[in-house]
Amino acid sequence: MTTAFKDSIKSALENNNLSAALGRFSEAYKVARVKAYQGIDFEALRESIAEVKSYAAAHQNELAEEFARNAEAHGAKVFRANSPQAVTDYILNVCRENGVKAVVKSKSMATEEIHLNASLQKDGIEVTETDLGEWILQLAGQRPSHMVMPAIHLRKEEVADIFSKEVEERLSADIPRLVKVAREELREKFLNADLGITGANIAVAETGSIVLVTNEGNARLVTTLPKIHVALIGLEKLVAKFEEIVPILTALPRSATNQLMTSYVSTITGAVPNLDGSPKHLHIILMDNRRTEMSNDPKFKQALQCIRCASCLNVCPVFRLVGGHVFGKVYTGGIGTILTAWFDALKQSDDIQSLCIQCGNCSEVCPSKIDIPGLILELRRRLAVEQGQPLVQKAIFAVVNNRRAFHSLLRAASLGQAPFARDGFIRHLPFFLSDLTNSRSLPAVAERPLRDTITKIEQPKCKEKAAFYAGCLVDFVYPEMGSAVVKILNKAGIAVVFPDKQTCCGAPARYSGAYEVAAQNALDNIDALLEEDVQYVVSACPTCTVALKEEFIHTFESLGQTEPIERARLLASKTFDFSSLVNKLVHDGRLRFKPDQHPGKVTYHDSCHLKRTLHADQPPRELLTKAGYEITEMFENDMCCGMGGSYSIKLPEISAPILKRKLTNIKATGAPMVAVDCPGCVMQIRGGLDKDGSSVKVEHTAQRILEMLE
Ligand code: SF4
Repeated sequence: MTTAFKDSIKSALENNNLSAALGRFSEAYKVARVKAYQGIDFEALRESIAEVKSYAAAHQNELAEEFARNAEAHGAKVFRANSPQAVTDYILNVCRENGVKAVVKSKSMATEEIHLNASLQKDGIEVTETDLGEWILQLAGQRPSHMVMPAIHLRKEEVADIFSKEVEERLSADIPRLVKVAREELREKFLNADLGITGANIAVAETGSIVLVTNEGNARLVTTLPKIHVALIGLEKLVAKFEEIVPILTALPRSATNQLMTSYVSTITGAVPNLDGSPKHLHIILMDNRRTEMSNDPKFKQALQCIRCASCLNVCPVFRLVGGHVFGKVYTGGIGTILTAWFDALKQSDDIQSLCIQCGNCSEVCPSKIDIPGLILELRRRLAVEQGQPLVQKAIFAVVNNRRAFHSLLRAASLGQAPFARDGFIRHLPFFLSDLTNSRSLPAVAERPLRDTITKIEQPKCKEKAAFYAGCLVDFVYPEMGSAVVKILNKAGIAVVFPDKQTCCGAPARYSGAYEVAAQNALDNIDALLEEDVQYVVSACPTCTVALKEEFIHTFESLGQTEPIERARLLASKTFDFSSLVNKLVHDGRLRFKPDQHPGKVTYHDSCHLKRTLHADQPPRELLTKAGYEITEMFENDMCCGMGGSYSIKLPEISAPILKRKLTNIKATGAPMVAVDCPGCVMQIRGGLDKDGSSVKVEHTAQRILEMLE
């Protein structure tokens, strides 16, 4: 990670206005989004958008040809441009041929992508952005920080300062007054412009129409007042049929601005007459800029489904802290990282991909069903292949890949930590490690790992058998969680074995792009866990469960290793997360809770992998309720706690404020206990509460329900 990048994060985090404004917006956005989608089957809607757009991505060239034919039949001139330079040259040519001196623009990310304004201005053309947010940024000399609300990072006071300079009059931060100033200033620009430039939200191949969705009406003026209209459209905006704009227009305003419909939806089919009756010159440029290459990439073609609603940014716990400018380029947030890697260069995503904490909030709300975190992992893999792994990481993973060495190291840590550990915590670390204990206490490594003590739990003779997969944290830090799981399964008449050769699930390596390391971890674990004939493989860690159920297979597929996939599938079919399996056992009458228990209030924190990958947020709640607990839900119960595996070590400055927000929400419930299904979240939240001096306890759901069972 470069120093310049770290510095940009630091200055974004120090900007209290930025994080406060984005934090408030993000909280309000989530509530309003739910309301906007009321009565709509979001899953069905996004399924249909994904279908429409993935078809379009797969038939990009055909649709571009069809679009060009139909638009030209209606009087437009269509130009297909492969590169940003070809687009710029074409537009400059149109300007020169027509003696264009002044251009007005409506908001267009495609023009931002190729830095069109700078090229036009260099040629002596006056360019005016007419979207209010874009105009503010143009006056301020800044670039957008958000795809839909480009000036979201600015306060009204800052806007008043910017406008005051423009009109040479001291203006107050009165929003209606500022809007009036913008209207008056821009009206003259509209009337004097020789050429208008827009993008398009959708381009329909069967009719040659472009669809523009706006709230300010400026796009209508840009497309009607000047005698020349140039529309710059990325190939990903194409759809085949006119009826296919319906699902996109249903989702776009709801996801972008929580509106049921924007103020203006304009459909332009061919050249329309000018106000004086003369024919308008309509130039439509279909821009490729590596979109065709993207459509041929089996992994990244899905990124072409994006409708640029920016809801992925609005729910991202990292974006709402640091804003868009740290991403360094035109496109921001998770999807911006992916687009930057393609439209600029893979290398350009090297630093910014590390901002993703892999919580999955983005893919949960994406109306185009894009697996943004999965694509960011693929970027990491390709970066690791292209650039090689950093040496320190390579050394760490060399140890992780050697089970004996790795476990010996953890045992040594249990002895070496003695000078720093008190009451199960390490509260301060010296020197360059001190950052790690700034915002949370770390857990001490257990004196004896689960693998040494589990044999002491005498196993009943049962028909059914489960293999327990502990994962590093349960095995070496929280063995008591593992004991609780084993005892509960025993109560249900399931004997538990602990395959000794199990090792790290490979998540740290996979999330760092080191897929070869992750694949070796996968192979070792498959061998270990399938050694005995068991009915279930159970884990009390959702990250490990996801690895066993899904990621082993994905890792092999990504590396083109087909041979181990069948056994990986067999393992996946036997794997269960703790709460889902135990809830089923309760439901089947194989486990019973003691009657009339009232252990009091508990609040529940959803771990990202359990909720968003395994879709198992209800089983733990059902178990706790059946056990007699009164669940008091915290605000943003499913928002990441900031742990993100090694993220909290790599970017503690981001992890810490995310944790702080989580702790505030926990404490606001008044519950004395937090139940969690993920040992990583336990580590983060328990450590944060300890640092805070709070008396609130944090335990795994297994520990919470063990004593409540008959
Ligand atoms: S990736 Fe999905 S959520 Fe993000 S801007 Fe694109 S469509 Fe919207």
